[in-house]
Amino acid sequence: MTERHNWQLGDVARLKKPHVCGGLDWRVTRVGMDMDICCLTCGREVRIPRWDFERRVTAQNPGNTLK
Ligand SMILES: [Zn+2]
Repeated sequence: MTERHNWQLGDVARLKKPHVCGGLDWRVTRVGMDMDICCLTCGREVRIPRWDFERRVTAQNPGNTLK
């Protein structure tokens, strides 16, 4: 299995598929079995199951230094 990211509030997640507004980056506003993420481009907030979120994400905090 792949290693799981440790997500924290305020992290930025880059997803595979762009939002309807064209944005790829989302801010994490809730961490748990479900994740709330807020689109950085249009401000829309959505809740998705964590397994679905982790399947869609391609990068954590893009633009920042990854450890
Ligand atoms: Zn958006």
